[in-house]
Amino acid sequence: MVPVVVAAVLIGLLAAPWLRGRIARFAVPEGEPWCDTCPSCGRRVRLLPPTGRCPGCRERLGAGPWTVEAVAAAVAVAVAYAADRLLVLTLALVWAAALGVVLGFVDARVRRLPYRLTVPLLGGVAGLLMAAAPTVPPGVVLRCVLAALAIGAALELAVWLGALGPGDSPLGLALGGLLGWYGWSVALGGLFVAVVLAGLWATLRAAAALARRRPVRGLDVPVGPFLLLGALTALLAR
Ligand SMILES: [Zn+2]
Repeated sequence: MVPVVVAAVLIGLLAAPWLRGRIARFAVPEGEPWCDTCPSCGRRVRLLPPTGRCPGCRERLGAGPWTVEAVAAAVAVAVAYAADRLLVLTLALVWAAALGVVLGFVDARVRRLPYRLTVPLLGGVAGLLMAAAPTVPPGVVLRCVLAALAIGAALELAVWLGALGPGDSPLGLALGGLLGWYGWSVALGGLFVAVVLAGLWATLRAAAALARRRPVRGLDVPVGPFLLLGALTALLAR
């Protein structure tokens, strides 16, 4: 087990500079162009070091120092633990994990889940599950579709009621489909854990605001990271 954990941590750390580059690119407010170059020195930014600073001018871009590295290493270990004998299913997990880390940081930073990330996530997961479909009974594929639609519809309802942003429902579709492969308990468990964690986070923030005698302004909680954390928890606890 130790060599697998060490290899997974190394893969997470090796992927981190690229993940950081993606986070810096997509963590821009709605309506602004993607950030492909450093705003200070104009240097094209593809890879970023663990400090998160531009290699040209040392300006900090995107996520905080060592945060992406820590999350990427932890997620890589979790994916290695959850990996399946079926290669395409493991590839679907890796794809969801890589885009999930980027989406989590982008949502935490600018409160949005861009379609430029959620649509490739959904397309990749759907394509890889389709490729894995001939190896399992048709019931499994049907369950993936139904779980994706159920969780996607639940989140779309929350979007419609104004509780969530529009990017949450494609993320829910992708995670619902992926978790549906493992069973209804995993898919619904992931959503349940996400709702509980997001609720706890909102309560803590409200309590902290009250303690500092600041007004509590709505439930300004990014839901994407909690959906991703819930999915990962359900996958590991299955
Ligand atoms: Zn720069």
